[in-house]
Amino acid sequence: YFSKNSSFDRKGIARYCARPMRIVLLGAPGSGKGTQSQRLVERHGVPQISTGDLLRAAVKAGTPLGVHAKAIMDAGKLVDDATMLGIIRDRLGQPDARKGFILDGFPRTIAQAEGLTRLLDELGTPLDAVVLMDVDYDKLIKRISGRRSCTNCGRVFNIHTAPPPPEGCCAASHLVQRPDDKEETVAKRLQVYDEQTKPLVAHYTGQGLLRMIDADAEMAEVTQRLEAALVERSGEGLLVKEGRA
Ligand code: AMP
Repeated sequence: YFSKNSSFDRKGIARYCARPMRIVLLGAPGSGKGTQSQRLVERHGVPQISTGDLLRAAVKAGTPLGVHAKAIMDAGKLVDDATMLGIIRDRLGQPDARKGFILDGFPRTIAQAEGLTRLLDELGTPLDAVVLMDVDYDKLIKRISGRRSCTNCGRVFNIHTAPPPPEGCCAASHLVQRPDDKEETVAKRLQVYDEQTKPLVAHYTGQGLLRMIDADAEMAEVTQRLEAALVERSGEGLLVKEGRA
């Protein structure tokens, strides 16, 4: 599995596998953050923290947060930073996040990134890496327009590239499109990404945390590139952080 990355020695890989993983997946809507997070969860046993999923659950449950967030989400805009930082503070305080986490869809603004750094400093658990998942805009639009999720189990499919099985839990009759994946809203979400989230690339590059991968490939290939980017990171001296894990 790691054999293509011959520059990483066995010790480096062992170190990588043993360490808690605290990472951010950064990328435009449709770049595959959710799909890849789920694959990393299976491999590394750390929780995926998707702020989009947390907000959708709140909307479904009709909580005050859900009522506040629904119209903003449907319009493709961002929920305010103070609310999002509150959500993340609560979630990172839960026991399962002690062994690490994969942040998917957070942070999305510079203010959120700064708030996250402060919070992780308080906890004594700094980020290991931020991986930017790079996909061309044309491809993003195609991916988003094909995205469907199963109302039974929540799994995500793509009618163009990763179709669901014809029968059973995730059969076509149980699949729905997210309201904000409709064409009208997608353009707004991409604009919001460009204006508010893309500046995080320079922000995390400046901190020496950013890794970029070409995420326009088969799902398994992207996972491999992602893992290689993370090993690369730990091979570059993350050993110093091991004592604090
Ligand atoms: P996602 O599933 O990550 O695409 O998120 C869906 C929607 O939830 C976004 O378009 C925003 O309206 C909202 N949202 C999710 N994460 C954040 C965040 N970190 N900051 C602000 N709004 C967010």
